[in-house]
Amino acid sequence: MSPVNTPLRLYNTLTRAKEDFVPLDAANVRMYVCGPTVYDFAHIGNARPVIVFDVLNRLLRHLYGAEHVTYVRNITDVDDKINARAIRDFPDLPLNDAIRAVTEKTANQFFADVKALGCLEPNVQPRATDNIREMVAIIGKLLANGHAYIATGAEGREVLFAVNTMADYGQLSKRRLEDQQAGARIAVEGHKRNPGDFVLWKESAATEPGWHAEFTDGARTEAIFGRPGWHIECSAMSHRYLGETFDIHGGGLDLIFPHHENEIAQSRCAFGQNVMAKVWMHNGFLQVEGEKMSKSLGNFVTINELLHTDKFGGRSWPGEVLRLAMLKTHYRQPIDWTVKALEEAEKTLDRWYSIIGDATWPDDGFDDDVFAALCDDLNTSGALGGLHQVAAAEASIARPDSANRPLKRLRNTANLLGLLQASETEWRRLKRGSDDIDSSAVQSLIDARLAARAAKNWAESDRIRDELLAMGIQLKDNKDGTTTWEVKR
Ligand code: AMP
Ligand code: ZN
Repeated sequence: MSPVNTPLRLYNTLTRAKEDFVPLDAANVRMYVCGPTVYDFAHIGNARPVIVFDVLNRLLRHLYGAEHVTYVRNITDVDDKINARAIRDFPDLPLNDAIRAVTEKTANQFFADVKALGCLEPNVQPRATDNIREMVAIIGKLLANGHAYIATGAEGREVLFAVNTMADYGQLSKRRLEDQQAGARIAVEGHKRNPGDFVLWKESAATEPGWHAEFTDGARTEAIFGRPGWHIECSAMSHRYLGETFDIHGGGLDLIFPHHENEIAQSRCAFGQNVMAKVWMHNGFLQVEGEKMSKSLGNFVTINELLHTDKFGGRSWPGEVLRLAMLKTHYRQPIDWTVKALEEAEKTLDRWYSIIGDATWPDDGFDDDVFAALCDDLNTSGALGGLHQVAAAEASIARPDSANRPLKRLRNTANLLGLLQASETEWRRLKRGSDDIDSSAVQSLIDARLAARAAKNWAESDRIRDELLAMGIQLKDNKDGTTTWEVKR
């Protein structure tokens, strides 16, 4: 596709300004977004960066050509929260198997959730545990060039990054080291040279997950069976797939400090570059009654619950409704997640689908104003306003046959935001699916089937499976013995 004349402008957290986007290499535009830590279902707040950066990925693909964009979103599958969950949920399995069970199940659920939200798959979805060697190599470089050291803390040996070896540490979050020291609320841990020093690698007990690695600090070489810190994971995966310097790095606002600040410190000091990523982008929080939705606050609703249960607003919601509701607010503003907003989004989609119907048109032409709004730092709320105008214009034309071309613009333009990807018939079917399904009835049928299976009553178990299928429910028996379900499209 030929580049369009509208310049793309993006707000860069690094400079606190909106800037023209100029890729390092227009033949390979590179973006990295921090993905989920896979220990539990993703909540709808976690879906915000996924949807926002999906819109940006689509826009970049339009501007530079799909084959000239590389989008990487990682899976964090090594983390102490995962270990705790593995021990809780699979006490009878050896720890490593239990961890794999937790991360496999959660990652697969995440993939299914974001697919239902209409997101394109990133080009690469690397897992931290597949990139340990890359992490150890970067830590080795940091030790060799004096940016890291080995010290013994309360829980064993650690390799730490020495923040005062980096003259401009703190650029992204605009925190100066002196301020941090003065305001430090945590007691200085004795083994750290500076309270801001952070873990690159930490020793594991024999019962904890770990990898064998050797580190040389000055003249000493130590073998430390251990695991990586969180920040080094993203430095390693972005380097492996995108190089020492790349175009865009994204994530939620909460990642600016310490996660992204420390990624920058590690990558720049290891590779001797002035920049890690040129543009740093951060989405605002999704809130519930003025508070950030988060697992630790316990005020969350999962994507899966919104899609398949009646936990929020007494009914389930099609993924596209969630997507549209999310895009109504500019990505840097906070969103208040309400039933009313979902109802409005659904009404809008009803109307738009009734305008486009089922006919398909050649994929050419979209509304310039909507496109321009997206190019202005992803102004999705402006873009949706433009889409309403396109829809109003097209609704006023008599309903066409498939040869009537003016109507193609609504769908093509909405596709820029990943909306209106279905046909009217598919949309109605999907909606009926989510309206009709009584999830507690589904769950009791699943329970009855599990009981039948436990009693080796295969005929009854198959009968229940067929009964659910007739309701449009597809069951999936997971390796870990649980059964999940989804609405068959
Ligand atoms: P986590 O799994 O907690 O590491 O989060 C994954 C992604 O979701 C990160 O980019 C977070 O910044 C983002 N995130 C977490 N909670 C929210 C929220 N309430 N609103 C928007 N983004 C969030
Ligand atoms: Zn990250």
